[in-house]
Amino acid sequence: QTNDILLSVRDLNVFYGGIQALHGISLDIRQGEIISIIGANGAGKSTLLKTIAGDKEIGSGSIEFDGRPLPGRIHQFSQQGICLVPEGRKIFVNLTVLENLQVGAYAQKSKAVIAQRVEEVFDLFPRLKERAKQMSGTLSGGEQQMLAVGRALMAAPKLMMLDEPSLGLAPIIIDEMFEKFRQINKMHGTTMLIVEQNAQLALETADTGYILNLGKIQLKGPGSELLDDPYIQEAYLGFK
Ligand code: ATP
Repeated sequence: QTNDILLSVRDLNVFYGGIQALHGISLDIRQGEIISIIGANGAGKSTLLKTIAGDKEIGSGSIEFDGRPLPGRIHQFSQQGICLVPEGRKIFVNLTVLENLQVGAYAQKSKAVIAQRVEEVFDLFPRLKERAKQMSGTLSGGEQQMLAVGRALMAAPKLMMLDEPSLGLAPIIIDEMFEKFRQINKMHGTTMLIVEQNAQLALETADTGYILNLGKIQLKGPGSELLDDPYIQEAYLGFK
């Protein structure tokens, strides 16, 4: 069945000047699925997310989201229904926690809906509620990551993309964060696309995993199968 495909990428090529970062990428993401993409530095993971989010121009190929083709040019705002939590979080450090959340709902006119979503984010991350009036720049790294995820949720995206959400976080916080991703996916049916260096956790969490290498998809399969794959164990999971 094709009508439960939320995102469809076909033969995608993306360039930085004369350098080709993505080579003929094709992938399909079903509604409600959790996808993880793992790969070494420079594999093209961030480029793929940016292109889907409309922050980077399509060289050739196509991206279809929710049955509609995405335009190839760069957008000022993220594509409707798609939210990217970028690497390094990029929250507004001079705004409070609450203000950051409100900015995330910029497209929503109803104050009641915004207030309702803030409550949902606070239920998911009680720490943010305690710190609602605190300047975001003074939050810990883990709290800033919670805020970045919360801000994305404020837009009620159909597709939530996370670029290296574990970066710089303590192991216990990383586990908590991935548990929250599963919770978001369950509660809201949000489709999640997670790019991660932490291959073990990323593949444990994913329904489907992709290995990206030098701008190409090298392998694809159920997360649990990839975890058992001897090549992946050696190349990405540090097994000998
Ligand atoms: P990392 O884990 O290090 O962030 P990545 O898998 O996300 O790596 P990308 O950041 O997508 O990889 O980079 C893919 C390729 O594109 C790399 O070779 C990189 O040098 C190149 N690239 C990325 N951004 C630019 C840019 N703004 N200008 C020129 N080349 C770029």
